[in-house]
Amino acid sequence: MRLVFADTLTHEDAKRNIAHTFQVPPAITRLRIELTHEPHHATGAEYPNQISLSLFDPDGFRGARHNNRDQTVLLSGGSATPGYLPGEIVEGTWTVVLDTHRIVPQDQLAYRITVNMDSDPIEEPTPRFEPGPIVPRGPGWYRGDLHGHTLHSDGSWDVPQFVRHARDNGLDFVTLTDHNTVSGLAELDSLRGDDLLTIGGMELTTYYGHALALGTREWHEWRAGDGQAMAEIARSILEKGLLFVVVHPRSPGDPACTGCRWEFDEIMPGPAPAVEVWNGAWHQYNEDGLQLYYRWLNEGHRLVATAGSDIHRPPAPGAPSPAANVVYAEELSESGVLDAIRQGRLYLSSGPDLRLTAADDSGTVAMMGDSVARSESIYVHAEWRNTESGDSLRLIVDGTPYEERDVGEAHDDSWTLAGDSTRWFLVEVRDADGALRAITNPIFVE
Ligand SMILES: [Zn+2]
Ligand SMILES: [Zn+2]
Repeated sequence: MRLVFADTLTHEDAKRNIAHTFQVPPAITRLRIELTHEPHHATGAEYPNQISLSLFDPDGFRGARHNNRDQTVLLSGGSATPGYLPGEIVEGTWTVVLDTHRIVPQDQLAYRITVNMDSDPIEEPTPRFEPGPIVPRGPGWYRGDLHGHTLHSDGSWDVPQFVRHARDNGLDFVTLTDHNTVSGLAELDSLRGDDLLTIGGMELTTYYGHALALGTREWHEWRAGDGQAMAEIARSILEKGLLFVVVHPRSPGDPACTGCRWEFDEIMPGPAPAVEVWNGAWHQYNEDGLQLYYRWLNEGHRLVATAGSDIHRPPAPGAPSPAANVVYAEELSESGVLDAIRQGRLYLSSGPDLRLTAADDSGTVAMMGDSVARSESIYVHAEWRNTESGDSLRLIVDGTPYEERDVGEAHDDSWTLAGDSTRWFLVEVRDADGALRAITNPIFVE
């Protein structure tokens, strides 16, 4: 059985979700859905058109693939194209949705979706990924990544390669956050072990900004037409005990990286408890994101800073290292790591080790993410290791550099701040060119 949906679109149809429904009769064993759109890359246009295909069965999400190169979906009880979820081809109303991330100005874009349904009996093993064993390790500092992709969206490596890379880099935890899908997570969890914790995630890849749902194994609605709707999505993710992180907020946006820049005015930062200030290697858009984060802290928001490699493929030899999240967790478990991040008990680093503590007049000590009680003086102490010559250390107080020093031969320093005016402070390590090498989360004065 074969169905075709075809239409033409223009630039005006960009950033829409165009749904087509079809009926699946009983006893279908296999679905093959093909999407073509022409022109793929309009003559003279700087960027290609970018359309994703999301699929819903009568019970809900069956997959999406944020990948312009391969837009054929094969689905059966035991297997599925990456991005999609294998399982029974249930009878009833299915919906295929064109997510029009980018349609460049041009005359017309013609698309064609062909749905083939097949009832031939097929013999195939049901792939069942069993979660790997893991024994939580106790309290300590753990390094990990919170943001990465595979060929389940627009990455170019598979889940085992992605996990091997995390192991080769000595990470203690790794999170897979493919664009608008969770289809890689069962395999991800099957590859965890006592040496490497895996954490579920999805990157909500909207038309007006990207955010991570961390700790999830389920798909989340991302199709928010405005900031109000997005704020509701954020709240529902947080209510489920997951973490919501605004990522690369000052990334270039349309048309180069369509939808990549955070533009939801209602979530500046609104209900978001965390923001990724360090995406991939250090770039100007990260500096802009960091300054936005400082502004939000100065407005009184208690926000956590995170890093994410946003890795999509094996890094080129000699590529600059992205930052890891170095988290002080009560235990190395998914809830342990997410709790620690929620509390701001982490620093971000592409190399140096950093510690930041503070004490009030009574001697009560706070660590990063904590508050220190307002007293006449605040005693700040920082320690560092694995810095390089030329690195400098900056104490940032209320968003402004308070003191900058060469790290030199020293490994620690102390400062006394006026308790009546200080609201928050943190420590940055920068290289000779001013690029960030490490940063703590803030300690707040309350
Ligand atoms: Zn993104
Ligand atoms: Zn990403």
